[in-house]
Amino acid sequence: MRLRLPRALLLVACAIAATASAQEAQKKCTASARECEQQIREMLTGRAWLGVELEEINPGLVIKTVAPDSPAERAEFHIGDRLMAVNGHGLKEGTIKDFKVLMGESKEPRRLRILIQRHGILKMIEVRTEALSKAMIDRIVAQHLAQYHAIAATASKSPQQ
Ligand SMILES: [Zn+2]
Repeated sequence: MRLRLPRALLLVACAIAATASAQEAQKKCTASARECEQQIREMLTGRAWLGVELEEINPGLVIKTVAPDSPAERAEFHIGDRLMAVNGHGLKEGTIKDFKVLMGESKEPRRLRILIQRHGILKMIEVRTEALSKAMIDRIVAQHLAQYHAIAATASKSPQQ
């Protein structure tokens, strides 16, 4: 299973690094691999992580994926759960952007009280965000280098620069 939330974050990193050119269509980062890796690690290290990918159902938000071994999985979020509120802020007609604003940029672990609707029944779930693990950040970096810098993630092959 792919981890979409971190991938979305690294797309942000890439957008920061890349210039707006026609070559972007080829999914290449214009920053050097080393620069890019540094930036991604800086951005992700210690970042509060929940482990869900959301889908906008217009109006509202449902959980599309739950990452294995994530805070969300341990708190027993299910695919298809509809988000109604986070820490008292209504999300019944919320967007992914609204959710990100609620999550904030804070790197401190946070306790979230998330009200969901599952099969028509409201349920309050308490969950604590965690920092992304180093192993997971390594994986995100490797995936980015492979996808945007054409550097294979195999141990036998060392980067050219
Ligand atoms: Zn890059």
